[in-house]
Order: sequence, then structure tokens, then C-alpha cells
Amino acid sequence: MKLENLPLEFQGAMPILRKLQEAGYEAYYVGGSVRDILLNKPIHDVDIATSAFPAEVKALFRKTIDVGIQHGTVMVITKEETYEVTTFRTESTYQDYRRPDHVEFVRSLKEDLKRRDFTINALAVGINGEVIDLFDGLNDLRNKVLRAVGNPYERFHEDALRMMRALRFVSQLGFNLQRETFDAISEYHSLLAKISVERINMEFVKLLMGSFRQAGMRSFVESECYIYCPGLRAYGEGLLSFAELVGPAIPLESQAWTLLIDQIHLPEDKIRSFLKEWKCSNQVIKDVQQMVPALKYRKENEWTAWKLYQIGRELALSVDYLLYYFDQTPNLSKIRMMYQTLPIHSLKDVVIKGNDLFSLFDRPKGPWINEVLRAIEKGIVEGELKNQEKSLIQFAQKYLEEVDNGKID
Ligand code: ATP
Ligand code: MG
Repeated sequence: MKLENLPLEFQGAMPILRKLQEAGYEAYYVGGSVRDILLNKPIHDVDIATSAFPAEVKALFRKTIDVGIQHGTVMVITKEETYEVTTFRTESTYQDYRRPDHVEFVRSLKEDLKRRDFTINALAVGINGEVIDLFDGLNDLRNKVLRAVGNPYERFHEDALRMMRALRFVSQLGFNLQRETFDAISEYHSLLAKISVERINMEFVKLLMGSFRQAGMRSFVESECYIYCPGLRAYGEGLLSFAELVGPAIPLESQAWTLLIDQIHLPEDKIRSFLKEWKCSNQVIKDVQQMVPALKYRKENEWTAWKLYQIGRELALSVDYLLYYFDQTPNLSKIRMMYQTLPIHSLKDVVIKGNDLFSLFDRPKGPWINEVLRAIEKGIVEGELKNQEKSLIQFAQKYLEEVDNGKID
């Protein structure tokens, strides 16, 4: 098979492949971008594989960076773009089910394609558009089959992360796992415990966000891989209800975790430790901790000014969007409008500050200052208080009296 028109992204990298060839080396487009082109999907990074050894690649191009030279990857920088150029390599003797003990650079494309995970990821495209298909990957692409290159038991034993990669490709592409590949995953699921959480996380988030998450998540549960992922052991049922949610691919990582946590009914006070265990970023943790209770609330109620003020515009929109998955209609324009008409948008907008309260009232510094400010904020947002110094001071005075009289605790 031959690609008649190389996509623009490939054309951009063409001078690099040409230069390698002119110097007597082989060079091909490989990996996910080849797969995605053949599936008519948008591509992100163009990976180039070559028979030139890293030092030979570096000698050919003016500007390069060693990004992973021990794995054979050199970043070549052109005026327009940067490209990863990786030397053909084999990987030998995996002793810990994750990283190869050492990689060996080779001159043969076949050896390089053989060490790749799935047949659809083991295709190469040459400069003229010819597709090199040594493992029947084109057939699998056509039939929508995900199949390990070679013996799946050996391949998952070498690198257990490939099992998670398989499941996320199912979720992203809607392919079926070839029987033996699925059986091998079911057999070796426990090897996932050896893989670093960071690497599992990257694949799992892609699984959650795939267009075919139902199939991906079902296989994740059926193969029992979930048991060996952080904090999911007890939630097989909940994962399946996540799988059954109907709706488009989930757009944001924080939305994906929010829906997942909602469906497994994780108690609110466990959200932080759960996401920490998954090594999510602090930003994701912070957002999801607010989004989960907000979604629960929003499924039953309309936004109030105070709720909206507390969670903020972006997270409110993000939560509302999730109503789609529960057969309810988000009302994004209403949120935008409501938010715009809030009398204040943060504590900074309140005309009175903590220090003012401290100097006005004869009390030692303490939590009372924040309490009063919080009550003031709420009063203003709910339209019961004017954001003017005089009325705020009056309010604070009354509030503190009530606290002193035990009317507020
Ligand atoms: P994406 O579109 O999400 O980037 P991808 O297939 O390009 O998917 P990458 O992680 O970018 O995934 O890897 C690029 C290529 O390297 C893969 O297509 C595959 O050929 C090979 N590869 C990546 N990870 C592994 C692995 N764990 N074992 C074997 N081959 C792998
Ligand atoms: Mg890639």
C-alpha cells in the first residue's frame, strides 16, 4: 500500500528524512502518527525512526538536543518544528516487567518494528508514502483489531504497561481486543502492580477520556486490571456504571475523574487521598475536590449565587457540562449570565479588609476575622448586604454580638 498524499505534518518532516537518506541511512515515519493517518484521525507528534546511530544523527543536523540519547532519541530542531528522531533499536531482557535492561541500537527496521507493542503501532511509512507492514497491521486496522506484535504473553510479561496501553487504545479507537491478547491481559493483570503509578495514570486518563470508553472500561474490569490500579479494588461495579454513561468523549481530565468518582461513590473525604495515590497534579486534585460535590448538588438543584461564587465560573461551567451524561441539559449561558451579575467575584472585591476589622474591633487576632469576612461575602453575594464600608461595619458589629451571645457558633 502507498499513501498518495502525505499529510502536511509528514511533509514538514520530509527534509529530515531526506537528509538521513542522502547520508546513506534509512528513515521512516513510525508509531502513532502513522496509525492515526491511516485512520483519518488528526495527529499530534510525528515520530521518525532511522538506522543512523544517535551520534550520526547529531552530526547531520545543525541544531539537536539529546532528549533520550540512552534510548536513541535525538530531537532535531528546524525553523518550524521539532522532531524526535529515534535510532532503530531492540530491547532486551526485561527483568522487572517495566523498562528494558538495556536497548541495543540496530540497523534493521524489522528489528525495530518487532519490539513495538501492537500491530497497528508497528507500521512504518517511507518518504515516498509506501507503507511497510511486516506484522499485518493494515489488516488489523481495517478489521479494527488490537493485537500484540508476536506472542502477547511474552510482550506483556516484558512490559506490563502495554496492558494498560491496550485498554486505552480500545477506548480511544473502538477496536476489539484480539482474543489471545485479551487472554494474556487477563492472565498477567497482576503485573500492573510493578508499574509506576505515573505511567499507569497517563494511560488510564486516556482510557477515561476515550470516545469508546464503554468498551475500554468494560475490558479494564473484565480483565481484572482494575484490581491492580490504585484505590479501585473495591469498585468493580462502580467502574461498570461509569462505562454505561452515555455521552461524547469527556473533554477534560478533571471532568473524567469527577465522573469516575461520582460513579464509584467514593466518599467525599477520600477524594484527595485517592487522587494523590493516583499521582494526579495538584490542580486536578483541587478542581475535582470541588467538582464532585458540585455535580452531586447540581443533579438535583439549580445553581445559587452563593454556590456559583464559591466554585467560580470555569468549574461551574465544567460541572454543568457533565449533566449531559445524566440525560439532563446543561445551561451554560445561564451560568455565564448569573456569574456576570454577581455583585462581587472574590474577596478582593469586598471594600473592607481583615486588617480593618482587626483595628475596628477590640479583639485579639484569631479565626473570627475570617468568619466575619465569610459572612460578609455571603451577605453581599446573596444581595442582602451592600458592599459599602458603613453597612459592612454595622453588619460585622451585629454579627460579633450574636456570636458573643451564642446565637451563632
Ligand atoms: P499517542 O497517539 O497517544 O501518542 P502512540 O502510539 O504514538 O499513541 P507513544 O507513547 O507516543 O504512543 O509511542 C509511540 C510508539 O512507540 C507507539 O506507537 C509504539 O510503536 C511504540 N511504543 C510506545 N510504548 C511502547 C511500549 N510500552 N512497548 C512497545 N512499544 C511501545
Ligand atoms: Mg505518540
